[in-house]
Amino acid sequence: TEPRLSGFVPLYQSWESFYTRNLYRRIRDCWNRPICSVAGAEMEILERTTSDHGWNFKLTDKKKKVMNFGSYNYLGFAENKGPCADAVEKNVHEWGLSSGASRQELGYQEIHKELDDLVAEFLGVEAAITVPMGFATNSMNMPCLVGKGCLILSDEINHASLVLGSRLSGATINTFKHNNMKDLEAKLREAVIGGQPRTHRPWKKILIVVEGVYSMEGSIIDLPEVIRLKKKYKAYLYLDEAHSMGAMGPNGRGVVDYFGLDPKDVDIMMGTFTKSFGASGGYIGGTKRLINHLRLHSHAAMYSLSMPPPVVQQIISSMSIIMGLDGTNEGKKRIQQLKWNLRYLRRRLNEMGFIIYGNKDSPVVPLLIYMPSKIAALSRECLARGVGIVVVGFPATPIIESRARFCLSAAHTKEMLDRAIEVLDEVGDLLRLKYSRKLLPKF
Ligand code: PMP
Repeated sequence: TEPRLSGFVPLYQSWESFYTRNLYRRIRDCWNRPICSVAGAEMEILERTTSDHGWNFKLTDKKKKVMNFGSYNYLGFAENKGPCADAVEKNVHEWGLSSGASRQELGYQEIHKELDDLVAEFLGVEAAITVPMGFATNSMNMPCLVGKGCLILSDEINHASLVLGSRLSGATINTFKHNNMKDLEAKLREAVIGGQPRTHRPWKKILIVVEGVYSMEGSIIDLPEVIRLKKKYKAYLYLDEAHSMGAMGPNGRGVVDYFGLDPKDVDIMMGTFTKSFGASGGYIGGTKRLINHLRLHSHAAMYSLSMPPPVVQQIISSMSIIMGLDGTNEGKKRIQQLKWNLRYLRRRLNEMGFIIYGNKDSPVVPLLIYMPSKIAALSRECLARGVGIVVVGFPATPIIESRARFCLSAAHTKEMLDRAIEVLDEVGDLLRLKYSRKLLPKF
């Protein structure tokens, strides 16, 4: 008799599995396309025909140079030349690639100490700890901060790493509607018996978890209101600035800088080095007491190799430029260029009749496709015209809200933006992606 695949069958029969197997299998060429150069403002990508949409491509296949609107490179530091690359090259010769141990053991080199101090100075907090992976910064550190008997109030569309960290912590999790402060307050009121901030609280701690900029929506968290609520209800605040650090605020210091707030009002400041610094890894900033606690309890600090020295060097170099420590105006120029670029692209796409989500200052610009069946066509038509974009659909978005996501960079020139706009104009007509605003409900 044949063995029964008991666990497998229900999964196969689920809607998500059906959809993924039948749609994504046919359009696999939109994802997992090998990139054959540095992923800067332009990149080389392996050209694959639709009939060859498996993973059986050859690296010797034809390559195509396209403009890159898909990679996270907000300030243009993902580059293979310039002062950062020179410093990294020098560092490799001095330090090699591996630190050889975790930071608890012998992996905490002087360059790691330099980075921790620089990050704390950049954020305007007492201390910081750095971790080799942004995802692990959330998923491995949240369990050190809350546990059984605590309540996490999480924005409903928080990143997977925050969801995993929350689950691993063992705390009770409740979600509130995306960026909806009325709902957050209602959930906070529910969490304290009697509905009053000062009455008896059944929870050891209440932790509000939000992101600075939401990468699928292009929305910016209403941070002033979140801080007001966390103070009123005596909760703690965990802020993930993966997409805002470097890219937002007049000094590139994230949403706190954007709203002109005091960084000390955010209890746990988390962010990554993957989006604006052309590197990898993440950090947590806060009080000395918090960071010392993480140094002793975080699995990411204790059981994982510390960051490779050349990566540390890339972060130090790019962060110093953003802070103006190199004695030039380069950092400010990049921040301003990014701001100009994102407002320009957003305005032009809006004028053309595309539906664009999010805030005017967000470095991600989501363009709504709606119909899942058009995802692949948009990606292919843009690529054929020399524009590389990222397309996203269910289950990462609601099923009727498929979208393309443009990640802007200070390295994009106006000519590049104009060319991309021209291409989108043409492809938008071809695929009927432009909508009359009058016909649509207000978002
Ligand atoms: N937090 C957020 C909000 C993210 O979007 C991401 C990844 N895009 C991460 C954390 C994980 O960071 P990394 O890619 O550096 O591991």
